[in-house]
Formats: sequence, C-alpha cells, structure tokens
Amino acid sequence: MKVKCSQCGAEIPVPADANLLQCPFCDTALVVDGGDTLFRVVIPPTINASGAVDHLRRFMAGRKTVAGLDTKARIGNAEFLYFPFWAFRIITDIGERVVLEPAAPSALQGIQGMTLPPGDSREWTDEIAGDTLVIQPEVPQNTAHQWMVSRLGEVQVRRIVLYHLPMFKITYEYGGRPYRAAVDGVSGQVFPADFPAKAEAPFIAVAALAMAVFSIEGLVVSNLLLKAVLYGVSAVPILLLAWWISRKV
Ligand SMILES: [Zn+2]
Repeated sequence: MKVKCSQCGAEIPVPADANLLQCPFCDTALVVDGGDTLFRVVIPPTINASGAVDHLRRFMAGRKTVAGLDTKARIGNAEFLYFPFWAFRIITDIGERVVLEPAAPSALQGIQGMTLPPGDSREWTDEIAGDTLVIQPEVPQNTAHQWMVSRLGEVQVRRIVLYHLPMFKITYEYGGRPYRAAVDGVSGQVFPADFPAKAEAPFIAVAALAMAVFSIEGLVVSNLLLKAVLYGVSAVPILLLAWWISRKV
C-alpha cells in the first residue's frame, strides 16, 4: 500500500505490519489510518517513575479507595511507555478545545474524552522514545470519533492528530489481589483500571437505620416540636456512626 505524506505530498510505501512511520522524504512523523496519513505529536514527560508512584499513593489515600490503601498496598515497578490518543480539535460554543480518545484498547477508567495535559506539544521523532515502548494505534480514528460523538453529540472537528502521551503503568497488590493503574506522565492524573473501592454496604445499613429510627419517631410522637427535637438528638449518634464507618472502611 502507498499513502500520501500530509506534509510534503510524497507517495510513501507502507509496510503491512506497522502504521507508525516517518516520511523518508521530509522526516515528518505520520500515522496511517485507512488510506490517510496524519501527524504525530508528543508531550515529553515531566514526571519520573518515583513521581508517578507518589501520584498513585495520593490517589490511594483519597476518598474513593478503601481506607489505608496507600500504606497497605504493595506497589510494583512503574513501567514507562507512550500511549496513543486520537486528538480531536473541536469547535464548541465557547471556543476550540482538544478531546482525546484512546487509540489503543485500554481498560483504564476516565481515559476516554480526557483533556490534553498542559505541556509543550512537539513533533514526534523516534529519538524522543529511545528504548521506551511505543504502543501502536489499533483503534481506527472513526471508532474514536464515534466514542466522542456518543458523549458530546455531533461536533465540528477542525483537526485530528495522533498524540503519543507518556504514561506509567503501575501494578500493585492489596489483600492478595493485583490491581492496575496508569499515571499520566505530564499531568500526574491517575487512571485506575480497577481499585479496591470503599465498601458501600455499611453506608447503606446506616442510611436504612436512620430511616427506621426517624420513621418510628415520626409515628410514635405527634407533637411537631418534640418530633423536631427527637430527630435532632437521634441524628447525633447516627452521624457519629457514619463518621466512624467512613474511617474504618
Ligand atoms: Zn513527507
């Protein structure tokens, strides 16, 4: 197959097994998608492996994850790689913005529709990657476009490029189970594939208890003022219980 270079217009032969290439005539980094070529750009990393682990620990100490995860989890090595994204520059009511969709299959949560991390975009060269793993784009640009449309509705696209974004893939173990996450090598944002979440059952139990207590009080006591006082008084131990559980779970 031959494609036309988006930069110099030359006809470039494309090897069957790869869709990332560099124009042999003008050196422009290109990605082949169908019969088209698009530019490839990169934002160099601003975070190193230990910085990525710090970001992951902060995520682990947050509210969504099980209490004590940041201290109890056994964190493995951070593997550095470049992950591909289709970057759509779209026109909205409030101006232009760039929406990223993953260009390779990924189980990471929150990766679809992410915004471009703030950093210096520059043209890709193979020297930037060095020995680092560069994930090939496998998701066609059209598929990624449909993902975007399914979230945002029809939008006007001004330009599409392929972004190679630096990411750290980190696995960790908690409670005898492995978990995976990725950390954006520019913004430090954490994208978990899965994580030990706070258990919801105890909170649902507290809510049910509160409902039961309030409705019994409501039935038993008819005086409005007394009812208000009773509600206020019984809310205290329920809130304390909820607070205690949120520290434990
Ligand atoms: Zn060229």
